[in-house]
Amino acid sequence: MKVKVKSWTMAAYWSWNDTNSDVCGICQVEFEGCCPECNMPGDDCPVLWGECSHAFHMHCIMKWLEKATGNPQCPLDRQLWKTATAPSQ
Ligand SMILES: [Zn+2]
Ligand SMILES: [Zn+2]
Ligand SMILES: [Zn+2]
Repeated sequence: MKVKVKSWTMAAYWSWNDTNSDVCGICQVEFEGCCPECNMPGDDCPVLWGECSHAFHMHCIMKWLEKATGNPQCPLDRQLWKTATAPSQ
């Protein structure tokens, strides 16, 4: 199954590159893919960067922030979450 192959690859990748990763800190899927919510190549699943320099799928961070009423925090470092502008494009 495709999904299994992907998560195996991710696990290997994650172990040596966890400080500067290209994976979403919430769902840990690479940004080239989409979040588990979308799950379809070609779905519009943009990446959002925070001012703390962590990045997440927009859908993942939106869902996370919905739960954090009034006090949005980065899921990784618990800093106040502020969306920064995307570095590229
Ligand atoms: Zn994600
Ligand atoms: Zn998505
Ligand atoms: Zn952060």
